[in-house]
Amino acid sequence: MLQLEHIRKAYVTAGFTQVALDDVSVAFRDNEFVAILGTSGSGKTTMLNILGGLDHADAGDIIINGISTKHYSDKDWDTYRNHRIGFIFQSYNLIPHQTVLSNVELALTLSGIGRAERRERAREALVRVGLGDHINKRPSQLSGGQMQRVAIARALVNDPDIVLADEPTGALDTETGIQVMDILKEIADERLVIMVTHNPDLAEQYATRIVRLKDGRIVGDTDPILDAAAQETADRAQGAATGVLPVISARHAREGGSGSDATTGHAERTGSDKDAHHASMSFLTALSLSFNLMSKKGRTFMTAFAGSIGIIGIAAILALSNGVNNYIAQTEEDALSSYPLTITKSSFDLTSMMVASAAAGDEGAAEAAEASAEAEAEQDEDVINEYAIMSNMFARVKNNDLAKFKEFLESDRSGVEPYVNTIQYSYSLTPQIYAADTSGGAVRLSPSRMSQTMTNGFSGSAFTGGTTTSSFQELMDDQRLLESQMDVVAGRWPEAYDEAVFVTTSNGAVSDYTLYSLGVHDIKVMDEMVTQALNGSEVDVPARDESFRFTNEDALKLHFKVVPAVYLYQKNAEQGTWTDMTGDKAFMKQVIDSAIDLKVVGVVRRSEDAATSLLSEGVAYSPLLTRHLMEVSGSSQIVQEQLAHPEVDVFTGKTFEELQD
Ligand code: ADP
Ligand code: MG
Repeated sequence: MLQLEHIRKAYVTAGFTQVALDDVSVAFRDNEFVAILGTSGSGKTTMLNILGGLDHADAGDIIINGISTKHYSDKDWDTYRNHRIGFIFQSYNLIPHQTVLSNVELALTLSGIGRAERRERAREALVRVGLGDHINKRPSQLSGGQMQRVAIARALVNDPDIVLADEPTGALDTETGIQVMDILKEIADERLVIMVTHNPDLAEQYATRIVRLKDGRIVGDTDPILDAAAQETADRAQGAATGVLPVISARHAREGGSGSDATTGHAERTGSDKDAHHASMSFLTALSLSFNLMSKKGRTFMTAFAGSIGIIGIAAILALSNGVNNYIAQTEEDALSSYPLTITKSSFDLTSMMVASAAAGDEGAAEAAEASAEAEAEQDEDVINEYAIMSNMFARVKNNDLAKFKEFLESDRSGVEPYVNTIQYSYSLTPQIYAADTSGGAVRLSPSRMSQTMTNGFSGSAFTGGTTTSSFQELMDDQRLLESQMDVVAGRWPEAYDEAVFVTTSNGAVSDYTLYSLGVHDIKVMDEMVTQALNGSEVDVPARDESFRFTNEDALKLHFKVVPAVYLYQKNAEQGTWTDMTGDKAFMKQVIDSAIDLKVVGVVRRSEDAATSLLSEGVAYSPLLTRHLMEVSGSSQIVQEQLAHPEVDVFTGKTFEELQD
């Protein structure tokens, strides 16, 4: 049984309050055909949307099978809408470029049902509404009555207990309307159908019960449930007696009886303007909800999808919406964390390389073989043709003027603002970070020693391609984005250039690798392991210290020394050149001790709602640090000297021309 108790709903627009539902209480049986009758504006659609969980009341309760929904979570409402409710709207809301079959099948797409069964169930539902012969047509090739029957099939394909129909015949002529009503009456034999209409004749003729609404109040009910509690008990007893499964299989076994198809040839009709916007909103809500898109699982799926086709593609797909902008924004933010659109200073076209080799391997693909045109001209069987990958690839290296581009993006001219989520500038500046403890000499943590050892060891192998192994990273320059995707578990976000956060995995863990590379564990032990592994000798893996605990508090005590790269050089008074001092222990100790003290001020992890993680495990410093380091460098003596004499190398005192020779 479905019950509304003291439901109130008001809309406030421009300071004016319109009461749509005013203390509505009504209960519906599990199996009846109810018509909600009332003039335009009486609150019918509002009531239907609240019954279907598309909208929430300001006060009152919906009771579903005796259980209050006061404490329903979003997920509970998702489940209710997905599994119990089928919606039918006045303006059909079919997707124009998809076939009738696909339109119905779509309602099952994310339900976890396999493709073959989806097809079969969609086909069954269409046969049932008498459209078995039209499954491969597009909506525009159907009459209005046929389109509404497709919509009914779509509502039925999930086999809902409750079908909600909002003026389903409002856009149809009388004759076609009758056909649709016949189908609704038939499906009402085995479930609850609640239909909104302003046509008393239709209500009279088809419904088993008429509920009248006026100014948001119930002013008549031809078959009210007088004792809701008793009815609930009766319903349950009935449910227990028949069992749920036989009921469902009985529904599937039925085939549509109204096979006559006299409606072909009727002009296509659309919903009235008054209802168009509202209907499209409801449809999208219903569509996205029934697809389970709003749930996190749905979003993860969409994020992966966005990654495979690009964010533009997904925006286009969802652009059929005008009501799910928040949803799009959320998906974009999720996708952004894994698939940003990146513009680099220079790049070469890897695709051309792949196309070239594919074409060379495939004799038939003549049009794709621009790169190997010469090879094809040569027909001699004894010759193994050479085709160009390298020369093509490097011929296609493109350089971008990023400084100008940045200027453009930041100018008023760009107009890019409304279309981007966030713009992040990266500079080719990797901070030199050392362990704060210099008692055993300088221990560099960033750039990662690990990647260097490994790169040296594996040089020549694919590994040189350089996956980043650094445990230090720069935070995004967008605090709102960070806060929407990450949770602060302890402390706070950085506010100054010398502050950083510690990033754990989404379940609050951290790898031994990260602890080694941050110097929490002895980094030399890891170096030793890597060296042994690379030499092919047995690796001494240290026994795990079971008593070791690393807490948020420990993380908040971490601090590191950041040395502006320009501090690592010393001017040689005689020659006037600059010498790299990183090999000088005493010099390094002194430089590190007086360097920037980078403190961890917070512990963060991916928030539960975020589909992917914006940050990877380790320490993330503020972009303010990068800017600070750039300023220090820019105003340093060594850089000033280099800028003053751009043709002379400050390290050697020779001109670059001489060096090239
Ligand atoms: P019906 O479906 O019976 O025509 P509705 O339930 O759509 O009536 O609307 C009931 C009342 O609430 C009307 O006065 C309508 O103008 C108002 N209303 C409905 N939806 C909104 C909304 N989104 N914003 C403001 N007022 C609304
Ligand atoms: Mg309405």
